[in-house]
Amino acid sequence: MPSEKISTSRRTLMQGATAGFVTAVATRAVAQTDVSNSAGTAMASPPQDPRTLYPHPPFPAQEQPWPGLAGRMTPRPDHGETSYRGSGRLNGRRALITGGDSGIGRAAAIAYAREGADVAIVYLPAEEPDAREVIQIIRAAGRKAIALPGDIRDEAFCQALVEQAVSGLGGLDILVSNAGRQQSHDSILDITTEQFDWTLRTNLYAMFWITKAAIPHMPPGSAIIYTSSVNAYDPSFNLLDYAMTKAAIANFSKGLSKQMIKRGIRVNAVAPGPFWTALQVSGGQTTENVEKFGEQVPMGRPGQPAEIAPVYVQLASAQASYVTGQVYGASGGSGQP
Ligand code: NAD
Ligand code: MG
Repeated sequence: MPSEKISTSRRTLMQGATAGFVTAVATRAVAQTDVSNSAGTAMASPPQDPRTLYPHPPFPAQEQPWPGLAGRMTPRPDHGETSYRGSGRLNGRRALITGGDSGIGRAAAIAYAREGADVAIVYLPAEEPDAREVIQIIRAAGRKAIALPGDIRDEAFCQALVEQAVSGLGGLDILVSNAGRQQSHDSILDITTEQFDWTLRTNLYAMFWITKAAIPHMPPGSAIIYTSSVNAYDPSFNLLDYAMTKAAIANFSKGLSKQMIKRGIRVNAVAPGPFWTALQVSGGQTTENVEKFGEQVPMGRPGQPAEIAPVYVQLASAQASYVTGQVYGASGGSGQP
């Protein structure tokens, strides 16, 4: 996609944002600018009060057909497009990220590319507009980008996507299994067998299939990262099927880490709290919950995907060489473990 289209979408981002959001993004961009001392060494960014960053509820009422597009959200989520600055922490790595078109996966994809990794992203064909932006950003960072559209509920596609990622990237060192399905239902009586199966296939079966296909390609020193949730520990009343899959993911991650260390592969999970992503506005929450999204956590606002990307970088990086079988949280002051 021409870079002009990206600038257009950045303009749309700013036009569509509330004044508070623009201020917050600008503040954050300044906050992340490294200051150099006289010896030319990068010094730490000045501290920022996390409560003052980013948009706070109430949010405009909005709903999109599943799976939703980040590009059509108001305000647009911040995935680190203008703020994430790398420092070579993943130089030469080859990463596969499911759900890398939007939200948390997109923030990880942008951060990984800027840290020096080549990145393959998996997404649904309906998400092509979001995915094109990510591909363009990865290439603008000087890294290789592989686009893998398809439906991970299909085992054959899960095997094929791993093969295509491995051949396109020339190997695989990092797997981020992050794609997820979340639909709000007030009662178990409203969850059909079809819906239940859809959630389990996306969140559990696909994770299992993709992991199995990827492991034989991953050399010692590789990292696997899963996306669990605060719902693993404290299930929301309206996310019964989703929450149980997130508990299973945390458990699977810990169990698998015990097997994979025999291959020199570290396995961890991330448990996000409320993050402002397309998942929430495409059936993941009721409209009422979207309007007050994030107000329940001590920080009083949802996280932006850019705020969790550093956790994915840390878990993938060799600096986390002693970290395996862990679940890392980022949830605005709530959540476990
Ligand atoms: P998102 O909608 O931006 O990302 C989810 C992605 O999953 C989609 O972009 C889509 O590409 C992918 N996906 C879903 N079904 C698929 C299918 N059948 N085939 C291929 N791809 C499919 O939302 P997000 O919030 O960034 O979600 C990423 C992960 O974070 C999910 O696992 C979600 O459960 C988890 N999570 C999100 C939150 C939150 O508040 N946003 C909190 C805790 C955990
Ligand atoms: Mg998406």
